[in-house]
Amino acid sequence: MDLTLLYRGPLASCDYDCPYCPFAKRRDTTAQLRADRAALERFTGWARSRAGEDRLSLLFTPWGEGLVRSWYRRALVDLSHQPHVDRVAIQTNLSCRTDWLAEADPATLALWCTYHPGQTPFDRFLGKLRDLAGRGIRHSVGIVGLPENLEHARRLRAALPAHVYLWVNAADGHTYTDAEADTWTALDPLFPYSRHPHRSAGLPCRTGESVVSVDGDGTVRRCHFVRAELGNLYDDSYRTALGPRPCPLATCDCHIGYVHLETLPLYDVFAGGVLERVPATGTPPLPLVPLLRRPPAAG
Ligand code: SF4
Ligand code: SF4
Repeated sequence: MDLTLLYRGPLASCDYDCPYCPFAKRRDTTAQLRADRAALERFTGWARSRAGEDRLSLLFTPWGEGLVRSWYRRALVDLSHQPHVDRVAIQTNLSCRTDWLAEADPATLALWCTYHPGQTPFDRFLGKLRDLAGRGIRHSVGIVGLPENLEHARRLRAALPAHVYLWVNAADGHTYTDAEADTWTALDPLFPYSRHPHRSAGLPCRTGESVVSVDGDGTVRRCHFVRAELGNLYDDSYRTALGPRPCPLATCDCHIGYVHLETLPLYDVFAGGVLERVPATGTPPLPLVPLLRRPPAAG
């Protein structure tokens, strides 16, 4: 079967110090790092073993930063060469070096890159993006829509080639006036999707059927936000639990969740790049904006 898996292991440390993040400059102990590595290698082994059985799309969504750890880089390279893996991607702050990407299959590997102004010089971040482009590595680039990030976002938008999409995530707990939302929408035509949490209660969502979340122990849930367990990856017990089911939560507030809502057109918008957040047409055209002013939203 075709299966999309979002993997999040125990890793909870990061080399950056973003003021809004609970994982900022957190350190994992040696034992925690060893456990994270073992869990990731078990997951990678499982994914490899599905050859001839499943077609897999994989997104690593670590709490902290994965690519500063060798085992994440190795897993991405390894999985990118598996014929039954259609896509393997990771969310990253792009602080890592990039030479290891030379060993990956650029047709399969992709990066979801977040720019954190204040944590890295603009020119260094932009240089990394150019390096990715030069290597033919698919990537999206984004920023949190905080007021203090606006000028940084404008500078980045101006420096990126027009076809490279810059996403903007509404900041947690931040309310946007229409004028502020328009400012961010001028940079990311899809910002209206992020502006408000989406009402999701009772709505059909692909998670739990063709998309699941997996933790370091192999516990399978429909998504990162619904705690009910579907079974375990490693004893196959989750398989019989896969099936269509409505969302049990009131709202869905995160792109990695609501992108799978069947009531939104985001599988079409991001066709071929759902996991790494790359739209099918590169930067979506601004005429989309009036259509998107009132997405199904709460709050
Ligand atoms: S880069 Fe990401 S994980 Fe690291 S501190 Fe910033 S927001 Fe948190
Ligand atoms: S809509 Fe969001 S919270 Fe609800 S099941 Fe889907 S991904 Fe999970």
